[in-house]
Amino acid sequence: MYDYLIVGAGLFGAVFAYEARQRGKRCLVIDKREHAGGNVYTEHIEGINVHKYGAHIFHTNSKPIWDYVHQFAEFNRYTNAPLANYREELYNLPFNMNTFHQLWGVVRPEEAKQRIEEQRQAAGITDPQNLEEQAISLVGTDIYEKLIKGYTEKQWGRSARDLPAFIIKRLPVRFTYDNNYFNDQYQGIPKGGYNVIIDKMLEGIEVRLQVDFFEQREELVKSAKKMVFTGMIDQYYDYRYGVLEYRSLQFETKFLSWTGNYQGNAVVNYTDRQTPYTRVIEHKHFEFGTQAGTVITEEYPTEWKPGLEPYYPINDEKNNEIYKQYKALADQESDVIFGGRLGGYKYYDMHQVIAEALTAAGRELGK
Ligand code: FAD
Ligand code: UDP
Repeated sequence: MYDYLIVGAGLFGAVFAYEARQRGKRCLVIDKREHAGGNVYTEHIEGINVHKYGAHIFHTNSKPIWDYVHQFAEFNRYTNAPLANYREELYNLPFNMNTFHQLWGVVRPEEAKQRIEEQRQAAGITDPQNLEEQAISLVGTDIYEKLIKGYTEKQWGRSARDLPAFIIKRLPVRFTYDNNYFNDQYQGIPKGGYNVIIDKMLEGIEVRLQVDFFEQREELVKSAKKMVFTGMIDQYYDYRYGVLEYRSLQFETKFLSWTGNYQGNAVVNYTDRQTPYTRVIEHKHFEFGTQAGTVITEEYPTEWKPGLEPYYPINDEKNNEIYKQYKALADQESDVIFGGRLGGYKYYDMHQVIAEALTAAGRELGK
């Protein structure tokens, strides 16, 4: 008999399993994929750590979380500074004085602020109600049209007018010449890739891969006193209140032997509507690689349907209302803990998932 059955060997499951083992608990971790790590898993191709499920940059403002992950790995000094390619015009991201200069030729912060204010007033936005209005009110119509609208509508498969404003607030807007994509104090990529962290967390814990919870539900539930569930909460409850919507992605990964430096940066966003992918990742640049060849990945957003990976919850009003009903059921469970991006139906970053898992572990297992 295990103390905990942990469904999902992603960050939430791995942190919880590690914490439980530290307190002498016996855990069984299962995952339907053929590897542990969930979406932070990296695959070694031609000497390069390839972020198999899209670019993952660790960032946090929390010293305790930064210290926590350092138990498991060292981090390099990588700072994310993506470029936006709009029909072969290049702009710096996030939206900062470099972007404003490239777009309008302005040099001083006050000039940039004035431009944005003029465009916001012309659009007549006082109280932004959706992503489009929020974006125009933050950075004006020009940036919205070139760098946000096309990318957002590809990424989410919906009009920016039908998306929640909070999504665009993830991105900093700065009136300094600073291309750091994050405002957080701490940032980097674990040396050797994220697998180093996951492997250390799961050391000494029984992990069974290629096991889908729903295919062996009864036996698995019986095998443990309690469960931690990090899969889709709507599936757990047999979709009784309806299907929650997600966005999925297809990744096209290529090894290029003819060049060691394809795009000169780890992340380039394609912000026009026509290019079918949103981003091209050149993985070696996350770790300052000097290999002769290079590996790139194009990221194509798609609507989620059963059989595809649910990467992004769509936290619009309709879906959040459905989620609330599942959450009410989850809150009544005494032997099941739901967590992570899918268990909590939240657009969480890694540091947030780790914090959430530590809180859940503290509540469940004591300090
Ligand atoms: P997951 O990693 O999804 O793990 C859940 C696991 O459960 C999976 O391995 C899955 O196979 C397994 N599972 C699900 N259902 C079942 C089942 N029925 N039976 C068995 N196993 C099951 N965060 C950042 O901080 N920085 C970034 O730069 C960043 N970039 C991202 C880019 C992309 C494209 C995506 C999609 C996410 C990004 N994130 C980033 C977010 C980050 O991936 C997540 O916060 C984190 O990995 C979530 O961990 P998790 O354990 O909740 O979920
Ligand atoms: N976004 C955009 N243009 C860009 C980058 C981002 O419009 O060049 C918008 C888009 O709606 C995206 C959101 O900002 O979904 C959040 O971007 P982030 O880079 O945080 O997305 P993630 O890495 O989570 O996919």
